[in-house]
Amino acid sequence: MDCLFCKILAGEIPSQKVYEDDNVYAFRDINPQAPVHVLIIPKKHIANVLECDLQTWTQLLQAVQTIAAQEGVAEDGFRIISNCGDNGCQSVHHLHIHLLGGAKLRETMA
Ligand code: 5GP
Ligand code: ZN
Repeated sequence: MDCLFCKILAGEIPSQKVYEDDNVYAFRDINPQAPVHVLIIPKKHIANVLECDLQTWTQLLQAVQTIAAQEGVAEDGFRIISNCGDNGCQSVHHLHIHLLGGAKLRETMA
């Protein structure tokens, strides 16, 4: 399958690892939109949130909590986003959660 994030998981494309467990991998976005911009992905290929099962979503949420603490943004706050489909401007079709923080973010989200 020609999936960029599956290639990152396979180590075929380098990434800056932030977190990893049996089911989840997280790495820094190549084009950060905030001082902290981490992409959190399931290790199994899932296209987007529409195809995500609850067990995987729970694993991703647990990783969000761990990474927020690890990155030092839990106290001041942060934002998570998962773009889905054309109108959501999803550009990589492997489910990912953006974790953005480290500064005051814009109030508008769209
Ligand atoms: P989307 O637009 O699908 O929600 O988010 C895809 C994200 O992947 C973008 O924020 C983009 O900067 C990031 N990205 C694209 N290619 C690479 C890459 O090769 N390495 C890393 N670390 N991030 C990437
Ligand atoms: Zn994939």
